Amino acid sequence: MNILVINAGSSSVKYQLYDMENAIVLAKGRVERIGMDTAILMHEPANKPEFHKVDEILEHTTAIRRVLDVLVHPEHGVLSAISQIDAVGHRVVHGGESFKSSVLVTDEVKKEIRRLFDLAPLHNPAHMLGISAVEANMPGVPQAVVFDTAFHQTMPAKAYLYPVPMALYRKHKVRRYGFHGTSHKYVSERAAAFLGRPLERLKLITCHIGNGASCAAVWGGQSVDTSMGMTPLEGLMMGTRSGDLDPAIVPYVMGKEDLTIGEVSSMLNKHSGLQAISGISSDMREIVEAVEAGDKNAILAFEMYTYRLRKYIGAYAAAMNGVDAIVFTAGVGENSAPLRKAVCEGLSFLGVDFDEGANGLGRGIEKRITKLGSKVEALVIPTNEEWVIAQDTYSLLQEQPD
Ligand code: AMP
Repeated sequence: MNILVINAGSSSVKYQLYDMENAIVLAKGRVERIGMDTAILMHEPANKPEFHKVDEILEHTTAIRRVLDVLVHPEHGVLSAISQIDAVGHRVVHGGESFKSSVLVTDEVKKEIRRLFDLAPLHNPAHMLGISAVEANMPGVPQAVVFDTAFHQTMPAKAYLYPVPMALYRKHKVRRYGFHGTSHKYVSERAAAFLGRPLERLKLITCHIGNGASCAAVWGGQSVDTSMGMTPLEGLMMGTRSGDLDPAIVPYVMGKEDLTIGEVSSMLNKHSGLQAISGISSDMREIVEAVEAGDKNAILAFEMYTYRLRKYIGAYAAAMNGVDAIVFTAGVGENSAPLRKAVCEGLSFLGVDFDEGANGLGRGIEKRITKLGSKVEALVIPTNEEWVIAQDTYSLLQEQPD
């Protein structure tokens, strides 16, 4: 069975095509700059050279058409016919309280995703464009949706409610939802397998540290708390996002700088975090280079970033009254040995016996970065959200009556 995984953004579509029986990626790629006459398709078929094409692609239906065309292209393709794609799985950022797990797309499901546009105005409408574009190009092919929020729906009320008037929750669903759930779930399961211990008995702190970053407290395989909130702005300091700050700063800055709410929101989402403090970049690679060159602002940005992450790990160890393992994943978590060192070396009080040698070795592999006998283990587990989406889609299809 072949499953196409789609992550549709407002002006981009990322895709991966899986052969499920052999658990391999047949092809992956993306279309960027949708809406422009210089849109670009970047296609990476397995065992064939990459293929790039600039083209006018004005909306998502054409973007998906181009993806399907290249997947069956005689030279660059990997399939002989589109009918060899059995199902499509979509990443959807916000499932609100309605979706606690992945589901097959029905009219009801689409209605509910639309109802959630308010909670994720930048993401959910784009995902719906992706779903409609697949429907238009591949009528009758089953589609599934996998939500970033679903894994965190197990959080107890004491973790997901904000201490504000309850009417805001009742009327407007103001609460913590959390994001990156697909990744937190995947790395928790992989961590248990790596440790050779049952997930049901483990207390894990999973750190998904990429462009966006969040931590989760995962107890017995269930998310019991997570750092992102009603939106992906709360929690850790990120590439361009502030993470936690005193909410009173918002009206104060609006008054002092004569800013609109939209301008403050853009400042906190797009012009804060590593970028704002370093004045150099939102990319951890460039920050680390500047730190090594002795740049004071980069050093401060790096210290703030790792300090805030360490505080969350301490908080979640307290939330679960202990922790068995801390897991690092995503672009920064998987690749930045200096970040892991800065975080783990400050956690010796918890029982983390950091292994600097192991930390520096090997990329893209699951590994332990604590010494043998360390009371609390630290692991690096590469995440694979697309594979989870493909697997969930596959499982949902298997559950369908013939
Ligand atoms: P993600 O959102 O998971 O795709 O992560 C993207 C981020 O990972 C980039 O913005 C970089 O900051 C970071 N990254 C990728 N490779 C490295 C590396 N070798 N060292 C440090 N950070 C990295």
